[in-house]
Amino acid sequence: MAEKSGSEDAGTLIIGAGQTGLQVACSLRDLGDARKITLLGEEPHAPYSRPALSKELLTGEAEPESLSLRNKDWFIQSGIDLVLREQVVNLRLPDGEAPGCATTSAGRDLPFGRLALTVGAAPRRLDVPGAAVAGVCYLRDLNQAVELRRRLGGSRRVVVVGGGFIGLEAAAAARALGKDVTVVEVEDRLIPRAIGPAMSEFLRAAHQRRGTTVVLSTGVAAVDSSAGRVTGVFLRDGARLPADLVVVGVGVLPRIELAQQVGLACDGGIVVDRYARTSAAGVVAGGDCTVLPHPLTGQGMVRLESVQNAATQGALAAASLLERCDATPVVPWFWSTQGDLRLQIAGLASGFDREVLRGNPDTEHFSVLYYRGDQLLAVDAMNSPADYLVVRKALAQGVALSAELAADASTPLKALLSAAAAAAAAAAR
Ligand SMILES: Cc1cc2nc3c(=O)[nH]c(=O)nc-3n(C[C@H](O)[C@H](O)[C@H](O)COP(=O)(O)OP(=O)(O)OC[C@H]3O[C@@H](n4cnc5c(N)ncnc54)[C@H](O)[C@@H]3O)c2cc1C
Repeated sequence: MAEKSGSEDAGTLIIGAGQTGLQVACSLRDLGDARKITLLGEEPHAPYSRPALSKELLTGEAEPESLSLRNKDWFIQSGIDLVLREQVVNLRLPDGEAPGCATTSAGRDLPFGRLALTVGAAPRRLDVPGAAVAGVCYLRDLNQAVELRRRLGGSRRVVVVGGGFIGLEAAAAARALGKDVTVVEVEDRLIPRAIGPAMSEFLRAAHQRRGTTVVLSTGVAAVDSSAGRVTGVFLRDGARLPADLVVVGVGVLPRIELAQQVGLACDGGIVVDRYARTSAAGVVAGGDCTVLPHPLTGQGMVRLESVQNAATQGALAAASLLERCDATPVVPWFWSTQGDLRLQIAGLASGFDREVLRGNPDTEHFSVLYYRGDQLLAVDAMNSPADYLVVRKALAQGVALSAELAADASTPLKALLSAAAAAAAAAAR
């Protein structure tokens, strides 16, 4: 039997005990890796599911314990050392036979042979005068969500800064609790980076129908407070919105500080290839902290913030650590639940030049297909799971769905997919 090098003996260190980090650990064990695995995170909680933080947790339909992705016994049985409440503050990569070393905030040195960076992203701060007062809240982790829920209970008027997914989910939860809610978005439409104008306009109208006020095309200029507590926000156009709670959802910044410390390529995220490998041998990265080649086309770099991407990249990263690189194109998918509005997205719409509307938005059951030329790129399906599933399948199979035929909502997309797949098969014979 070959002798193990010092580096090999030191095992795998996974920094960041979130969705992606857990997936790396699970996949390593599933792939038969019996060596030491340490999964380390700075939060006090074992890995948990974040999506409910802005949905069921806020409304009280879920409790923190129910969000755990694995119980403590699972880590013991799987032989995975779970280290919580410690932040890696200093990192050195392996050098030849010498293992790498991560130093934590508790002053501990953890040697490693292979490294996975799954450190996620941090919320962008609201950088305006007065923003550092009580009652200005962020929503990224469980502690913040629990704090926000507590404050929601005692508040009457809520201003949500940022009309993206998290802002709109939080707004819907606050409305469900009977709060007076205003969403302020600096762009001229909601979720401008991820969805097209038709779906943005639908969401604006749908949230307004449910009693939320949506203010577009203006940002927050300052936060007003009294005795250290928020009392309102001043908008750039001079208006003042009274508030006893402000929820900030203005995007995130990938956590690249450790990657930069050890000289990994970063460009708006830790740069990885389609196998989740970074620019250094033996170091992989995955999830919200990375930029990766478009998962379907391989063309151009994208940054994805989704459970699907965390799971996919986590599995790829584990395989790469074991030098079993294997990546088949994957259709990115995502969902956002805003009260009774369930949006499902498959594919990536960026670069589209045509939106095809299927159905009537007034019914709140419809979808928008995105095309560049004749090429189908993505779907946004509002309370229309069938359209979502068919487009996801079409993208996975590389089958073209005619935009002209798809526009007729009386024809099920499933029928179009079957016909297009049969035609493609006949042409290939
Ligand atoms: C409120 C909310 C709602 C969401 N809703 C949806 C949804 O509906 N659908 C969907 O698909 N996706 C949703 N997402 C996105 C999805 O949850 C994320 O894409 C996913 O959790 C990313 O996982 P990750 O492991 O890459 O990062 P994270 O889950 O952020 O995990 C990274 C972990 O690393 C830790 N860490 C960072 N640096 C260090 C360090 N130096 N030392 C130790 N630990 C460190 C962090 O504290 C964190 O715990 C939502 C996200 C949020 C915040």
